[in-house]
Amino acid sequence: MVASLAAAEQGARVVLLEKTGRPGGNTAMSQGMIPAAGTRFQSQAGIHDSPELMAQDIFRKNNRESDAALTLLLCAQSKHLVEWLVDVIGIDLRLVTEFAYPGHTRFRMHAPPTWTGQSLVADLVEAVRERDKILVALNTPVRSLVTDDHGDVVGVIAGTEAGERIKCRKVILALNGFGANPDMIRQYCPTIATAIYHNHPGNTGDGIEWGTQLGAALENMGAFQGHASVSYPDNIMVTWAVMMSGGILVNRDGNRFGDETKDYSAYALDVLDQPEGLAFDIFGEESYEIAAKGSEFQELMRTQAIKKAGTIEELAGSLNIDGQNLERTIGDYNLARSSGGDTFGRTDFGSSLSTPLFGIQVTAALFHTQGGLRVDSRARLLRSNGDVVPNLYAGGGTAVGISGSGPAGYLSGNGLLTALGWGKIAGEDAARTILGL
Ligand SMILES: Cc1cc2nc3c(=O)[nH]c(=O)nc-3n(C[C@H](O)[C@H](O)[C@H](O)COP(=O)(O)OP(=O)(O)OC[C@H]3O[C@@H](n4cnc5c(N)ncnc54)[C@H](O)[C@@H]3O)c2cc1C
Repeated sequence: MVASLAAAEQGARVVLLEKTGRPGGNTAMSQGMIPAAGTRFQSQAGIHDSPELMAQDIFRKNNRESDAALTLLLCAQSKHLVEWLVDVIGIDLRLVTEFAYPGHTRFRMHAPPTWTGQSLVADLVEAVRERDKILVALNTPVRSLVTDDHGDVVGVIAGTEAGERIKCRKVILALNGFGANPDMIRQYCPTIATAIYHNHPGNTGDGIEWGTQLGAALENMGAFQGHASVSYPDNIMVTWAVMMSGGILVNRDGNRFGDETKDYSAYALDVLDQPEGLAFDIFGEESYEIAAKGSEFQELMRTQAIKKAGTIEELAGSLNIDGQNLERTIGDYNLARSSGGDTFGRTDFGSSLSTPLFGIQVTAALFHTQGGLRVDSRARLLRSNGDVVPNLYAGGGTAVGISGSGPAGYLSGNGLLTALGWGKIAGEDAARTILGL
């Protein structure tokens, strides 16, 4: 949708083909948090940020395993992306200052007031509907790309059964990665293969397959965004704000097993290593109040998933975890908070863990994949020898991300930055090239 809006703004006619009956994909399941550096919303809040600082945060997390120039480009574009989304496209985005994600040295997440991708998608759908240059076809899976004798992409085959041929001057692959393709997950990301798949079912890796068939290079196929805290069995994401504001994760034995503020993506694998692959978010009232601002957490509040207790013993009983150990764990944690020396090296503690306490049974999940097709600074697909695949662009989960080679390289926001960021760049470039602008 972002690519379509950007292309239409330049004057191009766009056909947006969506496999399922509803636009939105993974984006609608996200928290809608878009990172951007140097926006006017940050300035208004007195926050000094820059694309360089943003890129440094990304590099620190991915161990410099992303393309430096492309990462910096996306960071430099992020301010324009967010301000364009607000000013031109009409999306309601606000700077999130209630909490910072692990690895973010500045408040730079811009999100709908509900902190949901559903609001973001609803606003995008509305904007797309208002543009008569964009034709949307739902329930219209793209089945393959059409090339001419030179191998240049000249169209797509789309629709049910045999499909229909649609001629196009440029094709933008915005169909995410392969999170919903268990065979590909087992092949490329085997460590997360047993986790819950908390993701959109449409993302079966089709675009990656077509790009590869045309000779485009694949990069960092082992990269993915995991999440260490999805309620079990309800399968509702528990915002990591709970951990960053003072919560801890324990196992059934009542023991912590790491520094909760380091990373939620690779930490998913630590959760999978616990007995039954389960863990328990334990947090106090302050964390509860912060999390309750998000509508996903409000949905959790309507289920029986969140246990509240006046004593540690009562909480342990309602979650069926070892009470004595939990008592000791919380005592040790509060001591480390006041005097330092946490066993797991945690230094960022937030509020103290005191009653009333809350707890949620959680497990690990795969959110989306971050490996994909290599692109250049215009989001055009590249072959391994550096040649451009003519007329073909990719963004979001179809293109290689900026999260390095495994789960630990994912910095919060890398998902929507590469989806919306490349979307805008690809849409504008495709339109300008077609129209000779
Ligand atoms: C719970 C959760 C929370 C998250 N929160 C955040 C966050 O706050 N910030 C952030 O940056 N990232 C977040 N992410 C990651 C983010 O959601 C993704 O990185 C991003 O949405 C990917 O966007 P996309 O455009 O690549 O794909 P999608 O939004 O998934 O869109 C792809 C679309 O392509 C369609 N499609 C697939 N194959 C075909 C085909 N053959 N023909 C036609 N259509 C097809 C799919 O049906 C789908 O609608 C979160 C992820 C999850 C699961």
